[in-house]
Amino acid sequence: LARPIVFGNWKMHGLRAEAKALAGGLAERVGRPSATLGVFPPATVLAEVAAQLAGTGILVGGQDCHDKPKGAFTGSISAPMLKDAGAVAVIVGHSERRHGLGETDALVRAKVQAALEAGLLAILCIGETEAEWLEGRTLEVLERQLDQSWPQGASAARVVVAYEPVWAIGTGRTPTLDDIGRSHAAIRARLERLASDGDKVAILYGGSVKADNAGAIMAVAGVDGVLVGGASLDPDGFFAIYRAG
Ligand code: 13P
Repeated sequence: LARPIVFGNWKMHGLRAEAKALAGGLAERVGRPSATLGVFPPATVLAEVAAQLAGTGILVGGQDCHDKPKGAFTGSISAPMLKDAGAVAVIVGHSERRHGLGETDALVRAKVQAALEAGLLAILCIGETEAEWLEGRTLEVLERQLDQSWPQGASAARVVVAYEPVWAIGTGRTPTLDDIGRSHAAIRARLERLASDGDKVAILYGGSVKADNAGAIMAVAGVDGVLVGGASLDPDGFFAIYRAG
């Protein structure tokens, strides 16, 4: 993947008309991106957004998947279904699912595996809570989450790690650039133990990334790109973040 990597997680935003306008606005501004750009729309609009962005170089992914390819799981969406709808990637282990919906490291690992089996790029999210941060346990939490959610045999070509401190998501607060660098270095060191090509795994930062801090964050050593929530919902804002990289 060309770096920087700039991904937009739309979360639960985007009725069909809104999604169409947002995807259209991005395609128009971005041209042929030299970086890796991607959007993660809600599943209901995934196929339409994928069709709309086909040929632009902007990749499209899902926001979560079930750990099984099919079955009696009412309301769930599998990795092969996302792929069938036009996705090439999927976010797994987002804190809004870990903490909002009780997903464990073991389940997240099964989901990464499901994504890989379906041929999707997995965006594996990890990050400490505010309490863990205040207790100085950030690095220990990141290492535990990686140890328990990185599948054996996974490689840099198929998995991207996103470091998203829970307390920085949607709050307007971010760690200092030094702290981001320290966390990314610890993640890198752990990945080098977990994967034979751990030195090549892309590591993104996410949490209150905006046009005015994206350049500085992406310039931190060890930061390969960003995963953007709120600021990805406006084509100009997302484009400005892409240009800052
Ligand atoms: P915000 O950019 O809105 O803080 O969200 C970050 C995020 O959770 C991306 O996955």
